[in-house]
Amino acid sequence: MDPARPLLEIQEHDTAIDRLQARIAALEAGADVAAALAEANEAERVMGELRLKLDELSRDQQRFEHEIDSMSQKAAAEERRMYDGSVANARELDSIRHEVDNLKKRRSDREDELLGLMEVREELEAQEREADTRSTALRARVDEVGGIAAEELRTLTDEVKERTEKRAALAETVDPEYLELYENLRPQKKGVAAAELVDGVCLGCHEQLSSVYRDRLKRVEGPKRCEHCRRILVI
Ligand SMILES: [Zn+2]
Repeated sequence: MDPARPLLEIQEHDTAIDRLQARIAALEAGADVAAALAEANEAERVMGELRLKLDELSRDQQRFEHEIDSMSQKAAAEERRMYDGSVANARELDSIRHEVDNLKKRRSDREDELLGLMEVREELEAQEREADTRSTALRARVDEVGGIAAEELRTLTDEVKERTEKRAALAETVDPEYLELYENLRPQKKGVAAAELVDGVCLGCHEQLSSVYRDRLKRVEGPKRCEHCRRILVI
């Protein structure tokens, strides 16, 4: 057996431990919870804005209703004056008629505006209900993510411990010269220091080794290295 062979399994544990530790670091930084919280806060901000707009619309609506009411009363009073005989002057009557027409026209415009406003309000109310539901769901999600993160953290920590123990046991079985080279190479090779040679291809860099070089490898004492990436080859 190639004395470098146990390095492949060590490599697998080391790669897994690197990945697990990166995930643990992210969980400890609370990245997932922070992201869920940011989303929940944003949903609440949107809902707050909608509520402000609805309050404003509500005030406008009251103001319009009041104006319409007061124009109706005024028009009715003017109309009474036209017909109760208290005004005889034709020019004055004309002026009152003109005023009544004017009031009715303005009231009709206001009524159209009021209708438009109520349509907008209905639309905003629907959006507000949706935002409320969304915000409640996101707030629950924050709690859930926090719980999941704590649970995942425990699982990952256990897995790191288990793999570290297995790795240590394997390391005992490897020639110290191989292990030292492996450990020195790993930081320089993006965490991958040992790779299998399959059909003349190094699985570390996926390059084909020349037949001349492969011939030469047969006579190498100690760790065999890839001609291209210099990783330890497991043959
Ligand atoms: Zn290579």
